[in-house]
Amino acid sequence: MLASPEHVLSTLESDGSRRWLYPLLSKGKLWKRRRVVGFVLAAIFILLPHLSIGGKPPILLDVAAREFTFLGTTFLPTDTLLLAIGMLLVFFSIVLATALGGRLWCGWGCPQTVYMEFLFRPIDRFFEGTTGKGGKPKREVTGALRVARWLVYLVVCMFLAHTFLAYFVGIEALSRWIQTPPWEHPTAFLVMAVTTVLMLYHFLFFREQLCLIACPYGRFQSVMLDRKSMIVAYDYNRGEPRKKGRRDPLPNVVDRSADQQKNNVADQTKTIGDCVDCNRCVAVCPTGIDIRQGLQLECVNCAQCIDACDDVMEKVGLPKGLIRYDSQDGIDGKGQGLLRARTVIYPMILLVVGGLFLYVLGGKYAFDAQMTRAPGNPFTRIGSTEVRNTLRLRLVNRSGVDQVYTIKALEPASVKLEVLDPAGLELKVGETATVPIVVDFNARVTSQSGHVDAVLEISDQSGNTQTKTYRLLGPLR
Ligand code: SF4
Ligand code: SF4
Repeated sequence: MLASPEHVLSTLESDGSRRWLYPLLSKGKLWKRRRVVGFVLAAIFILLPHLSIGGKPPILLDVAAREFTFLGTTFLPTDTLLLAIGMLLVFFSIVLATALGGRLWCGWGCPQTVYMEFLFRPIDRFFEGTTGKGGKPKREVTGALRVARWLVYLVVCMFLAHTFLAYFVGIEALSRWIQTPPWEHPTAFLVMAVTTVLMLYHFLFFREQLCLIACPYGRFQSVMLDRKSMIVAYDYNRGEPRKKGRRDPLPNVVDRSADQQKNNVADQTKTIGDCVDCNRCVAVCPTGIDIRQGLQLECVNCAQCIDACDDVMEKVGLPKGLIRYDSQDGIDGKGQGLLRARTVIYPMILLVVGGLFLYVLGGKYAFDAQMTRAPGNPFTRIGSTEVRNTLRLRLVNRSGVDQVYTIKALEPASVKLEVLDPAGLELKVGETATVPIVVDFNARVTSQSGHVDAVLEISDQSGNTQTKTYRLLGPLR
């Protein structure tokens, strides 16, 4: 068997087989805070489909009806401009957040971390007999114990899959489907079943490999971070050269000047660093890396190594913070530098893009109405004085109720307007329709170049009105 000449991935043995990680648990200050944040986020995920804003859930991604609702605003497939600006907004928000806080999202907010660390690993620890401590299983999970563990996973994954599905179909439809047999709603059942199986596969087998080999966010770190971005960092100036055992007497506490301690300046003369080489920071790492080797894309900034190392430092009587949230420049004593090119330019871009988003959003009406010319002749003569234009009115019902629209000509007075398909003016919620219209007018009202600007008024039943000016064409005079 060929063995890799060097270590490739923390979840792989050198022969390519899977290396299962059993991280120890360090219940430090940051872990307790992360747990609160994780539980709040999980509660929001579960409760959101049950809430209602204007008769709709705060988030509803109705793929079948091709409409997406966010906080009371419904977006339709015609909103491509808004979608494009919205994506830019998300992109620049991520870039700015990463420049400032590094991978805070990965360690504190990502569903992978939240569910893996605060839901599925505790289940594992319960069955493996390591509850509250983590580490290698105390007992082998085989037979009935293994089946029981899988059953718990299945129930949890089914619950999460149903909640996930509620974001696409709404909680009413989901409740209805739960109470009826699967063959009455096969597509929805299939989506739920596939989601459950994928979740089971992920949380049982794939696990932390999502962060290590699948998630693109980690791969972009090298371009999104700079030396002043906050990361989880090991203070090698203070920690090296590392040496096992207690410091007796504790030279680094006693000898290091206050200034050196404050600025983390390396003491070139010291022969022993603060790292007692206990390997606790490695043992607690859920991605199986050694943070002392520097910034690595596998590090999801979960801060478990900070909690573990602080605990060790306290026990050996050394100052905490050997591993801490800091920047690479901060570790080298060059200061934090919150104000820098990317933290000034990104917010400015965000302001512009955010303003543009609000401007376009503010221009949205209860309905969209667009007038276009029908293909064929620009106009036809009717008798000696009358001219006819054939137009098309495209309507999109954005209001929350079914509507019947009316259209009338305000100017010029001689314009007569007829809708060829009046039934096309009846639109259900979110529906789009194109209605043919003929407009007859007296040729004498046109300018010398043969056109006249007509003012048309379109209204819905809720009292919303839009006035459109459209150029009608006639013969040259
Ligand atoms: S936990 Fe701290 S002291 Fe222990 S090996 Fe890691 S960095 Fe060194
Ligand atoms: S190195 Fe530390 S912060 Fe990074 S993933 Fe491992 S334990 Fe978490």
